[in-house]
Amino acid sequence: MQKENHFMRYADTIDESRQYLRLTLELIGKHGLPTDPLNYCIWYEYASGKNEALNEAIDRHLKGNGDFSEEISRQLFNQHIAGGKETVTTLVREELKKVFTEIILAIKTTNRNFSASENNLETIHESLAPSLSEADVEKIVSQIKDEIKNLESSSTSFKKQLQQATREIDQLKIKMAHYRSEALKDPLTRIDNRRGFEKKLSDAVAGVNAAETPLCLIIADIDHFKKVNDTHGHLVGDNVLRMVAVTIKDSIKGKDLVARIGGEEFAILLPDTPFDGAMKLAENIRLTFERLDLKKKNTGENLGTITLSFGVAAYKKDEAAEAFVHRADEALYRSKNTGRNKVTGI
Ligand code: GH3
Ligand code: MG
Ligand code: MG
Repeated sequence: MQKENHFMRYADTIDESRQYLRLTLELIGKHGLPTDPLNYCIWYEYASGKNEALNEAIDRHLKGNGDFSEEISRQLFNQHIAGGKETVTTLVREELKKVFTEIILAIKTTNRNFSASENNLETIHESLAPSLSEADVEKIVSQIKDEIKNLESSSTSFKKQLQQATREIDQLKIKMAHYRSEALKDPLTRIDNRRGFEKKLSDAVAGVNAAETPLCLIIADIDHFKKVNDTHGHLVGDNVLRMVAVTIKDSIKGKDLVARIGGEEFAILLPDTPFDGAMKLAENIRLTFERLDLKKKNTGENLGTITLSFGVAAYKKDEAAEAFVHRADEALYRSKNTGRNKVTGI
């Protein structure tokens, strides 16, 4: 029997875990990957099929070029395992447990103090003889006063403990809001990640279907980005990704938003924007990159020009969000297949 605990991420039986192990090794072999702990962790989760977002991301990637470089694996791990939902709920659960324990302890202590006072008061009550001397009365009065003081102090400290618990719960609420928004952010570029994008896209689609305003989507993908990594290393590659995110962010305004939806793929969602406006914006962004001369941050060494290919789609009423994204993706594909550094509308 396995022991359950609240930190347990893998609650599989031994038989299940052995089966996943076999599958994991098979998958790692099939894709020609090194059997290192990073890959082991990613493909074990994939084999178990319990991490839906990870499986979707991997399947999506397999449909593309299927190359699982270390960067890609690192990204999959960070996005879907390390920063995943489960870690957040585990953290929150542990903090909630702490607050509960404190409240229960406070109730128990207060109960104990009240019972002690109750006993003392009963003893005093029983000692009330039919005839009492003045000295007896004085003694009893002072005993009762003491008990009242004890009761007051127990209830004051109970109140303080409850106030403390309330403060901790308020902190927890703030933390949860922070986790929730962090889960939608890409740690590298600090813009929305795919999950954040999907959430905003579905909100935008719902809004557009209700109000019948235009909505456009641009998907942009860096051209030959693999070469940047291969030539200059992935740290420079990471800096280029940050720069691309900032440059796109600086090119949009108002309700527009940009998200990093894949390794070197960005989505730009444009509410209230007609198709020709979106095409123009995509072309402007394309030109901005074409004109940029990138230099390495520390050495000043020239990186040359980074270009991007773009796919643009205008939302059609009642279209599913996935179909909308798919069309923009198709347009992007056409830009890639017809020479790159291009904008294609659909
Ligand atoms: P194409 O013009 O067809 O888009 O070619 P490409 O090389 O840009 O596309 P491909 O899909 O072949 O390779 C994408 C590369 O992006 C692979 C990987 O090295 C790189 N990449 C993905 N995520 C990251 C990341 O987080 N950091 C870094 N440095 N590189 C990344
Ligand atoms: Mg690319
Ligand atoms: Mg790509």
